[in-house]
Amino acid sequence: MTEQALKHTTQDDLKLYIGGAFVDATEGKTFDNYNPFTNEKINAVAEGTAKDIDRAVEAARYAFDQGPWGRMKVKERMTYIYKIADLIDEEVERIAYLESLDTGLPISQTRNMVARASENFRFYARMVESRLVGEAYQVDDEFINYTVQKPVGVAGLITPWNAPFMLETWKAAPALATGNTVVLKPAELSPLSANLFAEVVDRAGLPEGVFNIVHGFGETAGARLVEHPDVELISFTGETTTGVEIIKNSASTLKTVSMELGGKSPFIVFEDADFDRALDACIWGIFSFNGERCTANSRLFLHESIKDRFIEALKERVLNIRLGNPLDPNTQLGPLIHKEHWDKVTGYIELAKEEGCDVFTSEITGENKRGNFVAPTLLLNATNDMRIAQEEIFGPVMAVMTFTDEEEVVRLANDVEYGLAGYVWTNDAKRGHRVAHAVEAGMLWVNSQNVRDLRTPFGGMKNSGIGREGGHYGFDFYTEQKIIHVAIGEHRIPQFGK
Ligand code: NAD
Repeated sequence: MTEQALKHTTQDDLKLYIGGAFVDATEGKTFDNYNPFTNEKINAVAEGTAKDIDRAVEAARYAFDQGPWGRMKVKERMTYIYKIADLIDEEVERIAYLESLDTGLPISQTRNMVARASENFRFYARMVESRLVGEAYQVDDEFINYTVQKPVGVAGLITPWNAPFMLETWKAAPALATGNTVVLKPAELSPLSANLFAEVVDRAGLPEGVFNIVHGFGETAGARLVEHPDVELISFTGETTTGVEIIKNSASTLKTVSMELGGKSPFIVFEDADFDRALDACIWGIFSFNGERCTANSRLFLHESIKDRFIEALKERVLNIRLGNPLDPNTQLGPLIHKEHWDKVTGYIELAKEEGCDVFTSEITGENKRGNFVAPTLLLNATNDMRIAQEEIFGPVMAVMTFTDEEEVVRLANDVEYGLAGYVWTNDAKRGHRVAHAVEAGMLWVNSQNVRDLRTPFGGMKNSGIGREGGHYGFDFYTEQKIIHVAIGEHRIPQFGK
């Protein structure tokens, strides 16, 4: 690891965090972690296998069944959760640095994202204090029935590389706040910030085994977590194909699963839209976070009457986007996570040419040539039936299409397997609502880029997922609903066998 990087972490090579201690993998194996800007090795990471998942689950199980966590008063448990939030705030700079070093995401963007991670904890502490409530049903004068929500047990969390720290905290916060214990399997391509997360939890003083991290590969460590009989639930964010595999593998132990999967979200601009704001939002939505964003607007639908002007403006902006070192605060677009992902994204750009698109892009120059850069790219003259308009590319690449009327654009927007997000731009309020209702996606924004309110449900329909995270919606997932029926009168009991 470079000297500068070392200043941001207390661990050179990364260990696993199990039962309140940083430990090597049982089999002593490690894998190498690479910097996407230089493609040089950053460090080695302990490669957890099934045996390490078993160790971590055992620690989490013990902490849940025997430890103080499950018995703690809510107020006391929340002091730990608030403490984690405070410690994340103290570490924002270090975490953002490691995140950008590891993923290639520009530091100006990881700073904002990491700053939001502490809010995940505060938000869920407040939610548990105020909204983790039951319901009561009076049945005549005979019964009072009431519900309680209990933590489920050991929560298995599996996260992707595109927003590692944000997503790890987004899952761990509700899981811990509702009283579960956790085994987290971070993405193998972005392990750095996860160990700072473990350090933060360690410093917050959580009881041993409540929170555990096992690095490793999906097919080994991830798969074992999914099939482990002592893990009650799996919260997964990642590719749709991986989600399908996890659902299959979790079936034999009948786990509850939450699936946040891929997307191919439409961005619809009607002729009466606020042109400049729509342009800003469109550029941000596809080219921020290097285009490696589940809710990216990777399909743009422009009304025929504004298409020429909009495309000209897009081209001008594309040429101005600043590519560069992700650690430079002026950089707007960094390198893709990995050479293999670069192959995939550039493969789609080649496919776009074969499918008949005109490709418009900027140039990659100087030191950027050695990283996994893909310049911001417009696939002009695309049609919705092309593979580049149907499949998730997950890079700074947008298919640009046109439409003539509302009915047509709704049909095109919905003619895709995914259903995560959608964006509608119009100054006709009725049309805005109407189209938002009609587009098949879990989250719609009207005259806005992707802005989140943590109280609202997050998730997709169709091939974009199952279930919703966020707000009190997460409670259903991380808690077991119980109904208690209490007789308060002398209701009639069947006289059986008398
Ligand atoms: P991925 O599916 O390749 O990997 C995600 C995680 O799953 C990794 O930790 C990986 O090790 C693990 N994994 C892989 N195979 C596994 C298996 N068989 N069993 C258990 N675990 C396994 O996804 P990725 O490439 O890391 O992330 C990019 C994808 O994530 C994109 O499709 C993107 O749209 C999606 N994503 C969705 C959301 C959302 O909220 N809907 C948010 C961010 C990213």
